Amino acid sequence: MSDCIFCKIAAGDVPCEKISESENFLAFLDISPTNPGHTLIIPKKHVRDFTEFPERLGEEWFSFSKKVIEAIKKGLGVTDFNLGMNNGRFAGQIVFHQHTHLIPRKEKDGLEVWSSKPATPKELAEIQKQILSYL
Ligand code: 5GP
Ligand code: ZN
Repeated sequence: MSDCIFCKIAAGDVPCEKISESENFLAFLDISPTNPGHTLIIPKKHVRDFTEFPERLGEEWFSFSKKVIEAIKKGLGVTDFNLGMNNGRFAGQIVFHQHTHLIPRKEKDGLEVWSSKPATPKELAEIQKQILSYL
């Protein structure tokens, strides 16, 4: 897509701090990191979000991501990380070229995980019913 910043990065038209690449994926440092080493993994070919992500690339994505994670862990001396994907505006997606966030985590690094609150068994059962009717 011509006006997509990540397509431009994948094409080499916009610079990035590249970490690694495979046939169909590129990993580079996030320009505005949540923690040092915050890395983005993108498919080189434009897809909007996870729902458009081609299943045939799943295995390559998996092994490529694991390779990058291992290098970050060893290189930065971290053991823990968040692996996340924002899909859609309400989920916090700002760049509409699918990407996975890989965020190294350290003890007391000041970051939180998302909030939660307990649901009743009745509420859970109702939600479950709504989902299962489409499976
Ligand atoms: P989203 O909120 O869409 O999941 O995250 C988009 C991420 O892309 C943000 O963390 C943002 O800092 C990063 N980002 C946006 N533009 C650029 C850029 O031009 N270069 C790099 N390296 N990262 C970018
Ligand atoms: Zn794109």
